[in-house]
Amino acid sequence: MTDAHAFIPAAKPVIDEAEIEAAVRVLRSGRVVQGPEVAAFEEEFSELVEGRHCVAVNSGTSALHLTLLGLGIGPGDEVIVPSFSFAASANAVRLVGADVVFVDIEADSYCLDPAAVEAAITPRTAAIMPVHLYGHPAAMDRIMAIAQQHDLAVVEDACQAHAAALNGTPVGAFGAAGTFSFYPTKNMHSLEGGMVTTADAQLARTLRLLRNQGMEQRYANEIVGANVRMTDVSAAVGRVQLTKLAGWTEQRNANAAYLTEHISAANVVTPTTAEGARHIFHQYTVRILGDRDAAMAKLTEAGVGNAVYYPTPIHRLKPYWEPDQKAGRTWDLPETERAAAEVVSLPVHPALTREDLDRIVTAVNALGEQL
Ligand SMILES: *Cc1c(COP(=O)(O)O)cnc(C)c1O
Repeated sequence: MTDAHAFIPAAKPVIDEAEIEAAVRVLRSGRVVQGPEVAAFEEEFSELVEGRHCVAVNSGTSALHLTLLGLGIGPGDEVIVPSFSFAASANAVRLVGADVVFVDIEADSYCLDPAAVEAAITPRTAAIMPVHLYGHPAAMDRIMAIAQQHDLAVVEDACQAHAAALNGTPVGAFGAAGTFSFYPTKNMHSLEGGMVTTADAQLARTLRLLRNQGMEQRYANEIVGANVRMTDVSAAVGRVQLTKLAGWTEQRNANAAYLTEHISAANVVTPTTAEGARHIFHQYTVRILGDRDAAMAKLTEAGVGNAVYYPTPIHRLKPYWEPDQKAGRTWDLPETERAAAEVVSLPVHPALTREDLDRIVTAVNALGEQL
């Protein structure tokens, strides 16, 4: 029985018996850090990215950070990043001492605007970091063409986009590297965890060294590295989740289609999918044309979870805003600012029932009269 008045959460991380059993099995085995489970997880995940090399790490942020280190990006380099993302995207750039160049997004996909990317390229540009936001692939066909023309590396932030694709090519299989997160609220998780995907065997080897103090052979350190290893407990949980990802993605898409079909409030704009894109609906994000705070309060009152990703564009966050102010640098990002002011994400996770979906639709359509 479902409680008609129970709150419908915006996200619902899954830890079922299978995940618990896998974790316990590893704990009992005594092999808990970067052992056989991590190797198997890497092997199995590579099927999502056309057999590319996969290097597991302890978070999506570490995946981004290590990739930039592995590509030799550092002080004096510029990396093009959307400001409309989670701060981790830009943080990785700053962590290696490079400069973030913020670029605007497309209104429909919420991902990097290729024309704006091209306009932002300077002699110092080293890389472009498209973010496949909400699970919608960025315009990789155009971004890859620009990168090739200017000889730039592309680092895909696919942390929200497991198994998204554009024209049949999965995200994480376009750029020099792709990065994924397995944080509990993502479409699949490993408690905490991340993965780098790359077709470049040399880069993959460098990343394996960087994640483990620069060692392949114990105590024969080849380079300066960190410790961002994944545990075998995480990998075992991730392997279980990976087997469920396809089914969950199908359910997310069905939920999104149902919401889009039934949401009819004139002041609520439902999400679109670009031609050729496979959206995996990490988030189902609408625009509220009106008083968003009031809308969110009404949704919450109706028991419908909701959240803004992200209320403050990265360029307006203190660690970016203050140095830019000091340097007299400003960014012209009208679509980013508009999105940050208008978006709200609604529940779309696979655990939603038809009854939940109908309650979400009713609550959203009621906003039409309330705003
Ligand atoms: C979650 C996320 C990250 C960081 O992943 P963690 O595993 O939390 O470190 C990076 N970029 C984007 C777009 C994300 O959503």
